[in-house]
Amino acid sequence: MPDTLNITNIGFQKTLKSEVFCEGIGLHSGKKTSIKIMPAEVNTGISFFRQDLSENQEIKAIYENVCDTKLGTTISNKAGHKVQTIEHLMAAFMGLKIDNAQVLLSGNEIPIMDGSSRVFIDLINTVGIKEQFTKKKVIKILKEVSFFQNNSSIIAIPSDNFSIDYHIDFDDPAIGIQNKKVTLMGDNFDKEIGSARTFGMLSEVKNMHKNGLALGGSINNAIVVDAGKILNADGLRFEDEFVRHKILDFCGDIYLSGFQILGSIVAKCAGHDINNKFLWELFSDDSNYQIIEENSISTIEEINFAVA
Ligand SMILES: [Zn+2]
Repeated sequence: MPDTLNITNIGFQKTLKSEVFCEGIGLHSGKKTSIKIMPAEVNTGISFFRQDLSENQEIKAIYENVCDTKLGTTISNKAGHKVQTIEHLMAAFMGLKIDNAQVLLSGNEIPIMDGSSRVFIDLINTVGIKEQFTKKKVIKILKEVSFFQNNSSIIAIPSDNFSIDYHIDFDDPAIGIQNKKVTLMGDNFDKEIGSARTFGMLSEVKNMHKNGLALGGSINNAIVVDAGKILNADGLRFEDEFVRHKILDFCGDIYLSGFQILGSIVAKCAGHDINNKFLWELFSDDSNYQIIEENSISTIEEINFAVA
């Protein structure tokens, strides 16, 4: 049976079968950082825990907690404690349809790894995903919701699937105009989006390094573009890897809504800032959406009891 996410097949909530560990470089700091991703209880969503702090460790992965969108998405809790560069891991969770997980961090940043969601997806698939016998909650878009800012826009319309139609337009001819439409069902995210890396212009990277920013950013974790040329020795993973990565970022940022979305998205030249503003717009009016929540079956014991 095809694993499609639609209104008649919402399915159960999911978490990891067991914990996984991952270590790498922080994009902002350039320093070594590690995470442990743990299974979590139903209806708890995704949460980050700063193990380097003695109190107020938890930072929930929700759109209201976004505090910075430069060079990635940063969230913070009420105590002001932050986690940076969450979007590629959040995209992996969304792509794998994981509802509940706890992410324990050694510091304040998710490792950038290869600049995509690849490592996170592969790690989680190594241990496997389990269903939790409580129905998944999904946000259904009920009417057109849009957010416009300068040349950027995001428009969502009702649909029984989650599809993204994305358009980018960059001056550098190595990127140029790219369009990609993907319907996220089955393993489409894994195959078409999950490996697409982040990217930057050589001049921007040099400038940021000079100003003490993106110290971990390098050709090892990003596509680096300079005057019409791709500087990475192995070239691109997809001809249109740039627009695919923008879809990956969108998935990660939009998953801060707390749920999968049933809706058709058209995005133009968006980014972390616009993605977050779109969520504020979506949730500003109750008539824009509906959270579909099916009757829950809490435990296997309860099913057995009912049968007996
Ligand atoms: Zn990204």
